[in-house]
Amino acid sequence: MKYNIALVPGDGIGPEIIADAVEVLEKTAEKFGHEFVFTEYAAGGNAIDKCGIPLPQETVDGCLAADSVMLGAVGGPKWDSQPNHLRPEKALLGLRKALGLYTNLRPAKIQPALADACVLRPDIAARGFDLMIVRELTGGIYFGDRGRNEAGDEAYDTEKYSVAEVERVARRAFETARKRRGHVTSVDKANVLESSRLWRETVHRLGETEYPDVKLDDMYVDNAAMQIIRDPSFFDVIVTSNMFGDILSDEASQVTGSIGLLASASLGETSRGMYEPIHGSAPDIAGTGLANPIATILSAAMMLRYSFDLSEEADYIENAVSEVLEEGWRTRDIKAPEDETWLTGSQMKDKILEHMA
Ligand code: NAD
Repeated sequence: MKYNIALVPGDGIGPEIIADAVEVLEKTAEKFGHEFVFTEYAAGGNAIDKCGIPLPQETVDGCLAADSVMLGAVGGPKWDSQPNHLRPEKALLGLRKALGLYTNLRPAKIQPALADACVLRPDIAARGFDLMIVRELTGGIYFGDRGRNEAGDEAYDTEKYSVAEVERVARRAFETARKRRGHVTSVDKANVLESSRLWRETVHRLGETEYPDVKLDDMYVDNAAMQIIRDPSFFDVIVTSNMFGDILSDEASQVTGSIGLLASASLGETSRGMYEPIHGSAPDIAGTGLANPIATILSAAMMLRYSFDLSEEADYIENAVSEVLEEGWRTRDIKAPEDETWLTGSQMKDKILEHMA
């Protein structure tokens, strides 16, 4: 099959890690007889330098015309003093909006070989975990009514969800669970918030009518935050609102070891998604060769699984990454600081390619 992939490398380490992911995708295409056609677009700081704005229309059009989008990261100190509407991060929001992406999928998985890099109790880390946070991305308190009173000494933000908004993200969570271990935990604050009560009712109605084969339970967000530290192996798929998902997904990422290992997907109504590592543009290490490409390579694997329905190809990439880590190969971000034996990002990518032979 032929797939058109829009590449938005962005700033800092973005171009390095996207180039590594492209090599891995090309190797996968060769092995399975696919054709990936890559077209590169500017966004973020580099787009500000070239065209004066963070998200040129050409980038939006190119991404809309593609079968899927891979993004590196945007931003850096060079553009920190830009006025708010011209900041590099505006490109992310603009792309999500233009592509109609309302769900964010963030896996957090402890690679067995990296149990010693995990911050959890050793017996819990050794048990391992593999969870997926499905976060609503375009609604809730981040987009609700907000304001201040006239005196400016009182402020409010509003959490608002409709049944339709909850249903579409819950549907994605149930579908995801069907491809995994068949268990969804819906996270809310229904003991306090009316919007959470609507959330809970809606998820349950959908579960009972359309997904009776998927196990569904609920957890208050404070309990979920504790459970991620106490024993994250309880979870398979977590579905939750924009703000709760924002916080829980960062928490879950921290317990896995390194930010350089974690992938993400943003999805909407169509099969086209936007895939990116969860980390930023890491300007402190850009150009030094230290950027770990694994998060971006695993994001490419997610693209094959969720946008192109190529599970075997996604497994092929993920297995190569696991094997390389099992053999003890590490980039510097996943080493103890005093240990001086590590691979550069491009050596890590080469090791992964060797395992894809
Ligand atoms: P960051 O994620 O870029 O970096 C945090 C720390 O993690 C740094 O020490 C960095 O060196 C390290 N790190 C990150 N990715 C790594 C990798 N692949 N390999 C090895 N080490 C890695 O976060 P930050 O420093 O807060 O932000 C830097 C810039 O990135 C800012 O301009 C911020 O706005 C932007 N940012 C962009 C995105 C995005 O594009 N999605 C997300 C977060 C931050």
